[in-house]
Amino acid sequence: MSTTLEIVRIPVLNDNYVWLMREPQSGAVGVIDPAVAGPVLAEAARRRWKITHILNTHHHGDHVGGNREIKEATGCTIVGPRRDRARIPGIDIEVDDGDRYRFGEAEAEVFFVPGHTSGHIAFAFREQKALFCGDTLFALGCGRLFEGTAAQMWTSLGRLRALPDDMRVYCAHEYTQSNARFALTVETDNTRLQERSAAIDAARARGEATVPSLLGEEKATNPFLRADVPAVQRAVGLSDGDPVAVFAAVRHRKDVFR
Ligand SMILES: [Zn+2]
Repeated sequence: MSTTLEIVRIPVLNDNYVWLMREPQSGAVGVIDPAVAGPVLAEAARRRWKITHILNTHHHGDHVGGNREIKEATGCTIVGPRRDRARIPGIDIEVDDGDRYRFGEAEAEVFFVPGHTSGHIAFAFREQKALFCGDTLFALGCGRLFEGTAAQMWTSLGRLRALPDDMRVYCAHEYTQSNARFALTVETDNTRLQERSAAIDAARARGEATVPSLLGEEKATNPFLRADVPAVQRAVGLSDGDPVAVFAAVRHRKDVFR
């Protein structure tokens, strides 16, 4: 009963990515975090895909802004975080940590990953190797701590880090080039990071997206997944430091990085 997901990137607003996906056996079509409705409805119509689901990772406007209009236009089902149900417009189905949500013939595992917001979740389609992580994990970065603590975010990222290397990370923003500039200030000598950064610069110069990335390359190069690595600990002056303190220090540096 194994199936695939066709996944389409829709760039909207300044730097958001909305993901449109289709499970071909059932014809189910899902939208992950629709910031806006217009471009999503247009792309689905162009492909003759009928939107059946919206999956929301968290309540921010640039993730749920298109919910109601898409639901009115399509009658789709909106799936979102139970702990944030009051802040997810039009929510029909509430999911929480450990739930398995059936999407057509595919299945998502739900991870509760607080830190960026208090109710944030991620959807991991293990078999299809697709991780929809919203604003928790970015290519070479992570979300700001608006409603959570460094300890919560480190735990959340650790759970995503435990997923297989060959998962693709479908995050919600194109922040990679500036994230790479910052990451290089933390791990100056990481050759994989240097190579990745050069490849990102080249891709952006050609006008290409850098998302999705592979979780394995994030593990090797993303400083926010590496607070337990000696080079990162040394970079923030906390050799052998508690990873939560190291993570908090890296996050703070990024918050003030220009
Ligand atoms: Zn957000």
